[in-house]
Amino acid sequence: MSSAPVAQLDRANGYEPLGCAFESHRAQVIFYSDWLNGRMVNKLNQEKYLREALKEAEKAYKKNEVPVGAVIVQDKKIIARAYNQTIKLNDPTAHAEILALRKAARKVGNYRLNDCQMYVTVEPCPMCAGALIWARAKELIYGASDPKSGACGSVINLFSEKKFNHHVKVTFGILEEDCRNLIQKFFRRRRY
Ligand SMILES: [Zn+2]
Repeated sequence: MSSAPVAQLDRANGYEPLGCAFESHRAQVIFYSDWLNGRMVNKLNQEKYLREALKEAEKAYKKNEVPVGAVIVQDKKIIARAYNQTIKLNDPTAHAEILALRKAARKVGNYRLNDCQMYVTVEPCPMCAGALIWARAKELIYGASDPKSGACGSVINLFSEKKFNHHVKVTFGILEEDCRNLIQKFFRRRRY
């Protein structure tokens, strides 16, 4: 046996209470900074994908449709993108989220999108929130809330209903200001 463990033991005997406290504090700091780093990386990724959804919303804005855009991500890759086209398609269900879900399901060849995340600029309505649950989506990330038709807590909260057998993780408030500004700009323009 080398002398190192004995020396360590001696030291541990002499300073045990303080040493233990120091080590455990150090472990906590490392754990906390890893956790914080993870959250920061996650937030940057969320912003990156939501910015892509915003690009879709801008396409809708240019075509005089209510500017909402969505992208669907699987394994860190965007597999579908869409924007609201209810007027152009004469289709009340042609919301960005529904169009994106249809594209994604076709792409993966499955009506279930278990490992997919949806990024959308505005809080989904009851139809789209329902479609996300039916698609078994993993996660929903949205920017601005919609006080008039949002189904993630603004008017109702479909995602907090425990009786459904699938639960979607919901994160909101990412790039909130940019998402809200675009929709407000659209409704201001329509009033004049
Ligand atoms: Zn909708």
